Amino acid sequence: MIEQPGPQQAPSPNGLERAAALLAEAAQELSRIAEQDLPPGVAGEQAQALADLWPHLDHATAAWARAAHQAHRSAGRGATGQPNLEKWMQTSAGIPASNATKLAATARAAATLPDAQAAFEANEISLGHYGELAHGVEKATRERCTEQWPEATEFQAAAEQRLLEVARLPQATCGHIGRAVRTLRLALNPDRADQEFRHRHEQRSLNLTATPGGGFYLEAWGDALHGEILRACLDTAPTSGDERTSGQRRFDALVHTLTWAAEHRDDAPTTSPRKPLLNVIVPLGRLTADQNHQAAGAAEKALPHAEPARTDTGTLLPDAAVRALATDCWLRRILTDPASGTVLDVGRTHRLITPGQRRALQVHHTTCAWHEGCDVPVRYCQGDHVTPWSRGGSTNLANLQPLCRTHNLHKHYQATRHHPPIHDPPGG
Ligand SMILES: [Zn+2]
Repeated sequence: MIEQPGPQQAPSPNGLERAAALLAEAAQELSRIAEQDLPPGVAGEQAQALADLWPHLDHATAAWARAAHQAHRSAGRGATGQPNLEKWMQTSAGIPASNATKLAATARAAATLPDAQAAFEANEISLGHYGELAHGVEKATRERCTEQWPEATEFQAAAEQRLLEVARLPQATCGHIGRAVRTLRLALNPDRADQEFRHRHEQRSLNLTATPGGGFYLEAWGDALHGEILRACLDTAPTSGDERTSGQRRFDALVHTLTWAAEHRDDAPTTSPRKPLLNVIVPLGRLTADQNHQAAGAAEKALPHAEPARTDTGTLLPDAAVRALATDCWLRRILTDPASGTVLDVGRTHRLITPGQRRALQVHHTTCAWHEGCDVPVRYCQGDHVTPWSRGGSTNLANLQPLCRTHNLHKHYQATRHHPPIHDPPGG
């Protein structure tokens, strides 16, 4: 087709100009389609036609990669200035590193993995699958035991068949092929896999960094096993109507789990007060700010309080956060005189929920008592004052309810967004 330019085409020694013109024309045509208003009932057909078009883009990309491979190989590294095809793809064509690696592998595989190439040409596997497979075969071939497999080609053919089987499975994803590659490499060289695992474990790290804007940034890395453990603990499935993103659910799960574990440490007898994890220094005016605002009346403007609350590590906290957290067992509030900074009170234990009150809340509730419904189990909830302590609410059972951390914060921020109703709030 493309190799046979008609007599009207401008002379082009290798057809590249024609290919460029055809691709530009295809892009124009697609742009024209994108700007069209679709009559009712046509959109579904249009969507299917667009999905059917995708393999053509894949095939054009793969053919481009093979041409680039051919040019790069003929020119040699002296001419392109790059040691290999993937580096050249990155620097000259601006292709991201991970894409370039897999695309270059497909270009080389056209000659070495004939069955995979045929499966791709017949649209049995996508370019993404092909790239994962070809890159996997290359990695495994390098790591093979050369005593068992002296011939690289023999090994490649065996690995190709193994991975092609996975790639052809219905609903196979690149992740499935990637796992099959890892399985193969593990089987080929258990010692290397063990070394890699131990190395990653030794490199494990977790850093919590404050950002200048008053937030924080958490980054962690380590070995695959602990990654999976974390994933299993943090990846909570969305319940119906849960509007949180998966990232928000993981964040909430991490905070719930760690604070729950801290509250339930068995390193101290339950009769003695638990050691606070965090000291929060609160100027008195901040905690009673809502009372002051009420007393001052809506029309009168109140001057901002000079001193914000802060943790003993110096992190500044807004008022709503302080009020939301004030009932936690693991938090010690240190009240200071706003003028002198003198410590007025440490602990104020009557504000904290006693273990007995906590147990009573767990008897009366099964989940977070958020008025619009929430299914966070009560054991992960905090004791919340229905009428805030700063407005005279007392710390007795009638004025206490379990709220999950998210809803406790929501209540105090008086945010309008929340989990929509899931069920009626449990009785009590
Ligand atoms: Zn809740």
